[in-house]
Amino acid sequence: NRQIKLASRPHGAPTADNFELATGEIPKPNQSEMLLRTIYLSLDPYMRGRMSDAASYADPLQIGDVMLGGTVAQVVESNIDNFAVGDLVVSNSGWQDYSVSDGIGVLKLDKNMANPSYGLGVLGMPGFTGYMGLTDIGKPKKGETLVVAAATGPVGATVGQVGNKLGLRTIGVAGGAEKCAYAVEELGFDVCLDHKADDFAEQLAAACPDGIDIYYENVGGKVFDGVLPLLNAHARIPVCGLVSQYNATELPDGKDRLGVLMGNILSKRLTIKGFIIFEEYGDHFPEFLATMSKWLESGDVKTKEHQVDGLAQAPQAFFDMLDGKNFGKTVVKVADV
Ligand code: NDP
Repeated sequence: NRQIKLASRPHGAPTADNFELATGEIPKPNQSEMLLRTIYLSLDPYMRGRMSDAASYADPLQIGDVMLGGTVAQVVESNIDNFAVGDLVVSNSGWQDYSVSDGIGVLKLDKNMANPSYGLGVLGMPGFTGYMGLTDIGKPKKGETLVVAAATGPVGATVGQVGNKLGLRTIGVAGGAEKCAYAVEELGFDVCLDHKADDFAEQLAAACPDGIDIYYENVGGKVFDGVLPLLNAHARIPVCGLVSQYNATELPDGKDRLGVLMGNILSKRLTIKGFIIFEEYGDHFPEFLATMSKWLESGDVKTKEHQVDGLAQAPQAFFDMLDGKNFGKTVVKVADV
């Protein structure tokens, strides 16, 4: 049983030294458990937070722990009534070949699902996050302007495509010309801007002649700086993630602009709300899954995966994702079904 463990805590961007590849026994399920074999492992930005011991919404991993992560797995042995050998499930098995589970929080996948790995992306946690954050906190109204960064990733791509369906003007932000072209041509964003451009803020202002009503916050940093002066009165900001800051070791240079932010919140009467998807919205998952499955089947919603082969590649694929070198939802193929 290969396992990738946290070997040390990163200072800044994570490196190979922070991980250790170990080999252990295949665990044995007890009378109320099942044995799962990992097929796909999801890599997500939140994992960077768990590697650190800074206070957060969830406890950090301890040194020596197996890295955590969502997985698509196959049931190999089962002592649980609802789960049979051969079933494919979405579980939280982490960065390892085998794990045992008591079935709590484990979701069975449809046997006929063409792409089970979508259960980790557009039909899973990230897709659900984009859908709920936009619809519940963003409170979209037809004709409004929406801005979202990491626009080709699983959260941003969902936000943009759901925004299109709701009649919003959708402005994506992504790293590089290729991602921007895909966002417009395949995902249907009205415009997509490269945040690496020197004149990004000017381009954003030109793309939002009527200001911004919803800024779906995925990244923070330079994108947020460009957005803030363009926000309209009563704009809504679902704060989903701040990926540009996850590797930061100190506050950015420059003067303290907290007063400017507070002034904007007051004068524009902004709604800014953070959320952690399953904590806040877990009950809505079945309704999301039914809706999104239909949209995906009809071709109304499109998705792209960045698949990497082999568990040993997980650390590098994780660094690449934090650095924007992924193109679509990052998934590691660990084994064949
Ligand atoms: P992605 O697969 O989109 O990967 C992260 C992307 O962030 C990169 O590909 C890169 O895209 C972009 N990025 C990295 N650094 C910067 C930077 N300095 N400036 C601008 N963009 C940058 O991630 P997900 O779709 O999985 O997640 C998106 C966000 O949603 C993250 O912040 C994540 O933490 C958050 N999240 C929050 C949840 C919640 O419950 N609150 C649940 C799930 C996700 P590009 O090359 O296009 O810049």
